[in-house]
Amino acid sequence: MKKRKINLTGQILIALVLGAIVGIVLYGMSDSYVKDTLLVDGIFKFLGTVFIAALKMLIVPVVFFALVVGVSSLNDIRQLGRIGTKTMLYYLITTALAITLALGVAFVMSPGSNFKMPVLEETDVAINEGVPFIDVLINIVPSNPVQAMAEANMLQIIFFAIMVGIAITIMGDKVPTVRLFLNECNDLFLRLVTLVMLFAPLGIFGLTARTFSQLGYEIMLPLSKYLLTVVIGLALQVVVYMIILRVVSGLNPIYLVKKITSPLSIAFSTASSAAALPVTIRTAEEQLGVDKKVASFALPLGATINMDGTAIMQGVATFFIAQVYADGLSPSQFLLVILTATLASIGTASVPGAGLIMLSMVLTTVGLPVEGIALIIAVDRIIDMARTSINVCGDIVGTVVVAKSENALDKEIYYTTK
Ligand code: ASP
Repeated sequence: MKKRKINLTGQILIALVLGAIVGIVLYGMSDSYVKDTLLVDGIFKFLGTVFIAALKMLIVPVVFFALVVGVSSLNDIRQLGRIGTKTMLYYLITTALAITLALGVAFVMSPGSNFKMPVLEETDVAINEGVPFIDVLINIVPSNPVQAMAEANMLQIIFFAIMVGIAITIMGDKVPTVRLFLNECNDLFLRLVTLVMLFAPLGIFGLTARTFSQLGYEIMLPLSKYLLTVVIGLALQVVVYMIILRVVSGLNPIYLVKKITSPLSIAFSTASSAAALPVTIRTAEEQLGVDKKVASFALPLGATINMDGTAIMQGVATFFIAQVYADGLSPSQFLLVILTATLASIGTASVPGAGLIMLSMVLTTVGLPVEGIALIIAVDRIIDMARTSINVCGDIVGTVVVAKSENALDKEIYYTTK
């Protein structure tokens, strides 16, 4: 009899669902040695933590080598400026659109109505008023590139890699060995991503089982309307992406959807777009046919500044808190939320829970109590998992759109299914 082998994508999906089921079952069980020590803080923690560490191990080298090789493959440096401008514009516009959509959905769903206002209590959420814009710009230039890599400071690494890539382009035939070496390093690290991904089903199982075994489902109930509003906002954003792909790029979105299961599952289980980045880059290049020169630039930039899912959460959360603590948002506050949530999502780090901390900046700007965050903190982990998947999805769609407009998308690879 012929044995049917489940491919890696299938295995990852099974691991995700199985992890969630096992986690939920364990949550319902009373504390015991087997449940707590052996499974949740033993095997599951080991599998999940090792997997995240292995992914993180690859972020800096993959981004650095991919970007240097990408930039040095440009025939014309001006092309870099054009790709950069297009990518930034795309990311900003889609984020502003995402918040507008979120506010619209929140307006219709009215998640804060009938919600009993709890007494204001102190929260330990740090107030984040943001770094002055000029400092953000200054900080892009690393005074020490080794330190930038050690700290995984993405914008600084992007800057340094672009500079190295530009220098190689200018030097042309004078540095063939460096070129060859960097190209081979790039191939090597992408191969390492493939190797680490062999461990993905186990890692993803451990991560989801552990997370779900710790989620307090009963505290979610009073917040179910808020939860539902965010989920609807996120789902509608996916529809927006499909329309953009179809209308702006003339591509069939189904092929993209089928191929992004791996990066999205990692985003979901780790709640970190940075952790998913190595796999996102590999998927865009090898399965969606995006040329290195666009993928290596647009994806790390997207993982750092483009967070449509986070923006949606921030929009709905602000609306919700405004309903609970005030009489809703005025039209001018609506505009202010769109502006500040766009900036806040740019400043949000691509790690778990960062979006909630940046929410304090939006709340402060529109004059709402930061303590409102305490209301939604209980359900934030689950929302974080969902919004991070949308963050990554937004980066991939943006990259494909920019690549298509630059003639840097191999349609044959895009439309090939294995
Ligand atoms: N966890 C999100 C990400 O990595 C950021 C957030 O907290 O919204 O994309």
